[in-house]
Amino acid sequence: MQETLFIDVILPLPVPRLYTYRIPFDSNALIKTGIRVVVQFGPNKLYTGLVRKIHQTPPKEYEAKYIEQILDLNPVVNEKQFVFWEWLSSYYMCNIGEVMNAALPGGLKISSETKVILNPYFGSDYTSLNDKEFLIVEALELNQVLTLDQVSEIIDQKTTYSVIKSLLEKGAIVVEEEIKEKFKPKTETFIRLTETSTKDEFLKELFDGLEKKAPRQLDVLMAILSLGRGEGGSARNVKKSEVLKKAEGAEGAINALVKKGILEVFSRETGRLEMGEAISGYSKKLNEFQQKAYDEITAQFKEKDVVLLHGVTSSGKTEIYIKLIEKTLAQGKQVLYLLPEIALTAQIINRLRNILGDKAGIYHSKYNGNERVEVWQKLIGTKNGLNPKDEEVPGDDQKENAPYSVILGARSALFLPFDNLGLIIVDEEHETSFKQFEPAPRYHARDAAIVLGNFHKADVLLGSATPSIESYYNAQSGKYGFVELMKRFGGMQMPEILVADLTEASRKKLMKSHYSPLLLENISLAMENKEQVILFQNRRGFAPQINCSMCGWIPQCTRCDVSLTYHKNINQLKCHYCGYSHRPPSTCSACGSAEVKMRGFGTEKIEDELSIFFPNAKVGRMDLDTTRGKNSYKQIISDFEEHKIDILVGTQMVTKGLDFDNVGLVGILSADSMLQFPDFRANERSFQLMAQVSGRAGRKNKRGKVVIQAFKPEHPIIKNVIANDYLSMYIWEMMERKNFFYPPFHRLIGFTLRHKDIDVLNQGAKYFGDLLKKQLGNRVLGPEFPTIARIRNLYNKKILVKIEKEASIGTVKSQIQEMQNIFSHHKEFKSVRIITDIDPL
Ligand code: ADP
Ligand code: ZN
Ligand code: ZN
Repeated sequence: MQETLFIDVILPLPVPRLYTYRIPFDSNALIKTGIRVVVQFGPNKLYTGLVRKIHQTPPKEYEAKYIEQILDLNPVVNEKQFVFWEWLSSYYMCNIGEVMNAALPGGLKISSETKVILNPYFGSDYTSLNDKEFLIVEALELNQVLTLDQVSEIIDQKTTYSVIKSLLEKGAIVVEEEIKEKFKPKTETFIRLTETSTKDEFLKELFDGLEKKAPRQLDVLMAILSLGRGEGGSARNVKKSEVLKKAEGAEGAINALVKKGILEVFSRETGRLEMGEAISGYSKKLNEFQQKAYDEITAQFKEKDVVLLHGVTSSGKTEIYIKLIEKTLAQGKQVLYLLPEIALTAQIINRLRNILGDKAGIYHSKYNGNERVEVWQKLIGTKNGLNPKDEEVPGDDQKENAPYSVILGARSALFLPFDNLGLIIVDEEHETSFKQFEPAPRYHARDAAIVLGNFHKADVLLGSATPSIESYYNAQSGKYGFVELMKRFGGMQMPEILVADLTEASRKKLMKSHYSPLLLENISLAMENKEQVILFQNRRGFAPQINCSMCGWIPQCTRCDVSLTYHKNINQLKCHYCGYSHRPPSTCSACGSAEVKMRGFGTEKIEDELSIFFPNAKVGRMDLDTTRGKNSYKQIISDFEEHKIDILVGTQMVTKGLDFDNVGLVGILSADSMLQFPDFRANERSFQLMAQVSGRAGRKNKRGKVVIQAFKPEHPIIKNVIANDYLSMYIWEMMERKNFFYPPFHRLIGFTLRHKDIDVLNQGAKYFGDLLKKQLGNRVLGPEFPTIARIRNLYNKKILVKIEKEASIGTVKSQIQEMQNIFSHHKEFKSVRIITDIDPL
């Protein structure tokens, strides 16, 4: 007799539980945990769900529906991933479906709401498509976007999942929500020597022949050979544009050489981070300090799961990571190397690729769905599980299918299907961008990495020049191992840090706009010495505000409680919270006066003024506004590297893990604006920012200089930065944290309640606050309005809970869960949203 099987399915929806479905007898043999199935949920909606559990118990409260379809032959999610998801869902108090949503690339979770578009990378080779697939692609060329219902009509077939899945796998389409930008792939034309012409004897003959008859062609060949000399000494592909730069106007000569069969011209896609041929090089030999740190790290891993490496900027931490990666790979294990999104630059990618070649994959939030699925597949090793028809043929091109064993990625790389991690590196572990704010799961990638490492029994290395107070505390208390590296590589000195007293300079009327004489002098000096300069300003935009000198009026966003920021290049006032923008007024809307002036300063204004003070300097700017495009960030960095920019003005972005070789001066325009930030982490953050940005100053054989401008130069944090004294900052901060019940002494849980009606919100927040207080007493603070109470026409109110470290956090969370359930069943407050944030930053 056949068994009746049921499965518990995780759905990609914010529902608080798994749902049970029934398996038709003939599919019993195919069902496995971790594979995807299509199921109906709610009236008429189909979703891709994941099989979590197989059993024989029918659900009590409802009659189980049959599944619609099985999508995979083999699991796409392994047991370790499931356990990790379950931990995230419980620790961060969110639904497992929300974790699934964050974890799986869109291409792996199609539903009836999914819309598909053509993959801009696909090209026009339709030979791989069958008739139905071709119909869909053809329709997409006309319509741009299709819903699955429309697809169903086009192919006259009720279920579309198989054909959509196949098109996704063939790379012909992508899921619409995954496209972060509408981009066209960039292609470049490359030139290379044909196979026969690379032979030495042939080349020699050719040269002799061309020298007299066709000097232009000789120029072209010479250009190709000199450009194409790789590290290995072999000729490589070179960009046509570069050849033409060297041999101007040689278009005709190139064509002639192609006709003769000496050259080949081909185009290749550029712009994807994957670009660039791997030169399998060798890692560098560590110097004595690095070697000592390396030995200490490996020794400490014998006893501790986590080690914190505190190494000053440019101490060569990355090279130590590379050695540890090589060691882990030699043991046959996988490595995850986490970096803040913004620090995932071509620089670091190339350094890794050069050594690890195609063993290393990159995972980035700017990737589209297909690119992400590709990384997912390459980590599993084959197309295993994703397409039953495509099973690996033994002896098939092994290289093509060689699995990734190292992933370099931003926080979402934690969700990739690792099955055997040996090492996780969290570089720049202090970075706040490791925390996800929206949507749930609101996880901290560093903390989650430690838990993931635990499930894999992997070593976890945290690295930073300016560790977070929490991690440093864990190292001091012995919970983590601790290794210090206080010498910069190559005997480079820490920069000399000078402070410009803005109070005094203003009093003596020496300020030129926002520049002190000290900063201007040093910029001039750097320009004279042909050194580059980085100027750091914690704010983007031209002037944060416009205000009326008569009545003080400041234009506000109509949908948010914030003043608008002036952006000069588009001549618009813009809201940084909702994107609302309009033209700046010429007269005051409150009193009608024409005295509306700009106040404060942002990166754009700094950039503008520089060209007045230094008309010959080439100035570049790096902030959110100039780096929206997929490659614009990379472009600015490479322009700076190639010295096409003399002075780079930027926000925090300029502080992130960049390694330039010619920066003589770093200027910090306004230290006060960071230090005055109303947040218990303001001191820690300011120290980190100033120390990191200062770390960009210095050259191989010359000490770098930093000028910090401040109205309060005597501030203790500024003193600590000057002395490069992390420890004093830490001790001072710890005292404050202890006195005011903050981490690492207390745990924080934050709630944001949100509603469009301020009265409903006020009542709801009071009700919820009182519920919490009944259980948790005076550990509950608020509710109160945040600095910006209204965003996009929704009002917000905050409640903060501080829990002593000794208390059982599990008990507290279940109490909170209970209160949330009571609250959500209260009929007046059903529409009030509660956002729960564990360990808020
Ligand atoms: P960190 O990550 O600590 O800021 P990096 O690893 O980026 O430091 O090293 C700083 C610079 O020193 C880089 O240009 C790097 O290539 C160089 N460097 C570091 N270690 C070595 C080494 N052992 N041999 C040669 N160059 C090194
Ligand atoms: Zn006015
Ligand atoms: Zn707004």
